Amino acid sequence: MKRIERTTVHYAFDRAQPPVLTAANGETVVFDCIDCYGGELREAGEQARRRVYANPATGPLYVEGAEPGDVLQVEILDISLDGEGYMRVGEGLGIYENQGRHVGRYPVKQGEILFENGIRIPARPMIGVIGVAPAEGPISTDEPGEHGGNLDIRDLGAGSVLYLPVNAPGALLSMGDLHAVQGDGETAICALETGGAVTVRVTVLKGREDIPTPFLVTETAYLTTAAHESLDQCSVAAARKMHRFLTDHSPLDGLQAAAALSLMGNLRISQVVNPKKGCVMEFPRNVAGERWNVEEKK
Ligand code: CA
Ligand code: CA
Repeated sequence: MKRIERTTVHYAFDRAQPPVLTAANGETVVFDCIDCYGGELREAGEQARRRVYANPATGPLYVEGAEPGDVLQVEILDISLDGEGYMRVGEGLGIYENQGRHVGRYPVKQGEILFENGIRIPARPMIGVIGVAPAEGPISTDEPGEHGGNLDIRDLGAGSVLYLPVNAPGALLSMGDLHAVQGDGETAICALETGGAVTVRVTVLKGREDIPTPFLVTETAYLTTAAHESLDQCSVAAARKMHRFLTDHSPLDGLQAAAALSLMGNLRISQVVNPKKGCVMEFPRNVAGERWNVEEKK
């Protein structure tokens, strides 16, 4: 299986970023990723006091046949984490007050994180940064946007499928910033940051401008996403994307889709700590025991 090593990183999504590997349409590739601190916090202590937030992304991968206007389907097949995670929290870093500075290093073993005070947290491995070259850029790997990027959506785990727009030949897919677990909001600025290996299958979809990218399909839900400096605008944008998706793809008309979203849609904050905040609108794939055929445009 083709593999991109964790030493091959960059710090901005950019159509000028030279690809480091080429994959065929439908091929499976492993992205080996270093943690968001570039490995600096593995030596907690003096080094950890340095203000480092590099967010390196492994890649980019050139996908054969991907042309601007296409959609890239990224099936997340597996996420295998390193055995330890890190977090750096403190004044001015997240949304909390009256906290000291602290670097945490916690073992990740057999699907569990050994946190403070004997607390064990079930791991839920996910990808923080995943995206393609933007139409215009470069865009820092710290930022989320229409190209993907620093999305920090906790549903981006194994078994999920992400749809990204293709803005440049080959799409130029990169990823990094793996999390052993993250809550909605990522409110103290970081998740449990770790390195690891992500296995994905990449497929080019033609003529699917109806997919509201960046779009995520999990085992149980559809998720539309939006990023904006204003949480108000971000939440409305994510919700309206899902409303359009439902009217385009489900049996519901505009009025019914709005009502259904009010009853069954979960408008969630994915993160409030990146340069642009992130929201998702989540809608169940199974409604009243039925699965609508919304994968294709009606
Ligand atoms: Ca992140
Ligand atoms: Ca992170």
